[in-house]
Amino acid sequence: MPALWDLPDFDDHEAVHGFFDRATGLTGVIAIHSTHLGPAAGGVRYWKYADKQLGVIDALRLSRGMSYKNAMAGLPMGGGKAVILADARTEKTPEYLAAYGREVESLGGRYVTAEDVGMSVADLVEISRHTRYVSGLPVDARGEAGGDPGPFTALGVYLGVLAAIKQGLGRDSAKGVHVAIQGVGSVGGHLARRLAADGARLTLADIHEDRCSALAKELGASSVSTGEILSIAADVVSPNALGAVLTEHSIAQIKAPVVAGGANNQLATPADGQRLHDRGIVFAPDYVINAGGIISVALEYLDRGNRDEVERRIGEIPGRLRDIWEASKADGAPAADVADRMAQAKIGRG
Ligand code: NAD
Repeated sequence: MPALWDLPDFDDHEAVHGFFDRATGLTGVIAIHSTHLGPAAGGVRYWKYADKQLGVIDALRLSRGMSYKNAMAGLPMGGGKAVILADARTEKTPEYLAAYGREVESLGGRYVTAEDVGMSVADLVEISRHTRYVSGLPVDARGEAGGDPGPFTALGVYLGVLAAIKQGLGRDSAKGVHVAIQGVGSVGGHLARRLAADGARLTLADIHEDRCSALAKELGASSVSTGEILSIAADVVSPNALGAVLTEHSIAQIKAPVVAGGANNQLATPADGQRLHDRGIVFAPDYVINAGGIISVALEYLDRGNRDEVERRIGEIPGRLRDIWEASKADGAPAADVADRMAQAKIGRG
């Protein structure tokens, strides 16, 4: 097994903090990719990986994504991410959350935690009893900006999907546009509601079949199996579940001319950005389109601005995407590579 520094996803991370709490058995990792722009900010993912090494790799990938995301969103925050190696449905207790809070506190503010898959605002409130370095708390607890980042992420993804529709299909709205949404949790669910309100035609898929069929019924949408959703004949494919869904195999099956969704780390490998480009697919780099939540979380943490300011900054996401697509056209380089280069320059690694 390769050493941490030899893992392909190790990208000059400043620190990788593995932890084990004897009292509870809580096991996890906090990866700090860069603090060049400020404290490393990013959510904590509560997920039982088949293998602990996969959790470490995810933390490495996700924390780098946070550095890029925060930099591209113009936030004075670096990039970090935590992973708790446990099942959020059966292994989440106040003792576990307290132990996690103590780990975050022990880093003295170098890492600021927030919500990610498997976590809720209530969990963060529990964690906030044990560390100051937490954001995404209920709005009444910490001022005006803040709360669940999911709806803010979904707002940015929605605006980004509209920009991608314009870029890839030349259409000014989502009306009548067929969008295939993979994952209808916090982000995908809010996105689906916004697009449905615009008159988009939706096809949904989620491993939680009950959740998926209930939402499909509410919105008059269709649903398909999770294995089919990326390859249906749609105008837009929107990944909003877990990462690494855009692979050599799945990209070859995509029929939609646009891929734009909120899931983190959608490309399985950097070569997959080139594959999308070679197929002429308009791709919205994930850490640019899904920055709405961290914009809310960061402004809350820094005590800067209110909800209007959060929404104003989220409104800048489409322009940022257009800049990337224009540069991609001009350079003949994949949008994903263009975005990476822009982000690396911003964190002093250009
Ligand atoms: P969530 O847990 O609320 O929703 C994820 C949904 O995806 C769930 O309904 C789950 O059942 C479904 N899912 C899991 N595997 C699937 C599969 N193989 N096929 C179809 N559906 C599947 O999480 P969320 O907060 O909506 O986040 C979704 C994605 O967006 C994640 O990649 C997350 O990292 C990313 N993201 C979230 C935020 C945020 O503010 N919540 C911000 C940035 C990025």
